[in-house]
Amino acid sequence: MLANIIDGKKISADIKDEVKNETAKLKEKGIEPCLAVILVGNDAASQVYVRNKKKACEYTGIKSLSYELDEDIKEDELIKLIDELNNRDDVNGILVQLPLPKHIDEQKILLKIKPSKDVDGFHPYNTGLLSIGKAVLKPCTPAGIIELINRSNIEISGKNAVVIGRSNIVGKPVSMLLLSENATVTVCHSKTKDINKTIKNADIVVAAVGIPYFVKEDMVKDGAVVIDVGINRLENGHLAGDVDFENVSKKASYITPVPGGVGPMTIAMLMKNCLLAAKAQNGGGDI
Ligand code: NAP
Repeated sequence: MLANIIDGKKISADIKDEVKNETAKLKEKGIEPCLAVILVGNDAASQVYVRNKKKACEYTGIKSLSYELDEDIKEDELIKLIDELNNRDDVNGILVQLPLPKHIDEQKILLKIKPSKDVDGFHPYNTGLLSIGKAVLKPCTPAGIIELINRSNIEISGKNAVVIGRSNIVGKPVSMLLLSENATVTVCHSKTKDINKTIKNADIVVAAVGIPYFVKEDMVKDGAVVIDVGINRLENGHLAGDVDFENVSKKASYITPVPGGVGPMTIAMLMKNCLLAAKAQNGGGDI
């Protein structure tokens, strides 16, 4: 059997088109969704991410404001900027690009963003809502994973899902979302004993480990749905996922490629969150 390949490029493009249409409708009512992006320092990868977010805003019609701050900016100054943006009615979403320089306390900064403008879905208020199944602003990569599965018409309810990785940005939130979709969820991490046996029992495997080709063909059961979150840069410059795609795709029923699977979903879901935030702040739903 050769797996169906879940096309994250196509699905993310569909979502961006949906956001674009809805943004146009909001603008007709005089509401212009607006995202403020804060970048601190000169990290090359962060600069690329921020550029791609701006491009997606241009495409969807969402206004973007960009704040590029010096590497050595004081924590207080960054907090002052966040406070200003929190208080501006014309700004619906605030995103602080991570990682931040070492002298700035990341958790402290994320706590300062007003939960209703927290389009990354990292504020404890929003992660709390996620854990009771009521989140509106869901973390983008995990929410994108659920969209990939749902839009491929794969049933989640009643399935055994195994998430490999328990990070706050991927592993934990995606496990909460799978639970909300009525999967029976097991979360594995570096201390998990007999991990191969656990993965072998999974109908749905989500790999968010950060180790190239961690998931091998003999670890997954026939017909499993395999979602690869990993983005690992190899020494030869190539990108590799956390799954041995070439061999696992001979056994899985559905699989995401790297690149072109989960990767493009993150920004698409960010655009969706900006739209949801703008609607909620203009009387169109709760956050
Ligand atoms: P992370 O914070 O480094 O977390 C990795 C997780 O994997 C940890 O929970 C760790 O366990 C677990 N782990 C490490 N070695 C393991 C092993 N041998 N067996 C089982 N579990 C093990 O990584 P992350 O931020 O979640 O990211 C994971 C991957 O996804 C990375 O490749 C990252 O680049 C990628 N990513 C992609 C996107 C996107 O597509 N847009 C977004 C975010 C991340 P412990 O907790 O016990 O240490």
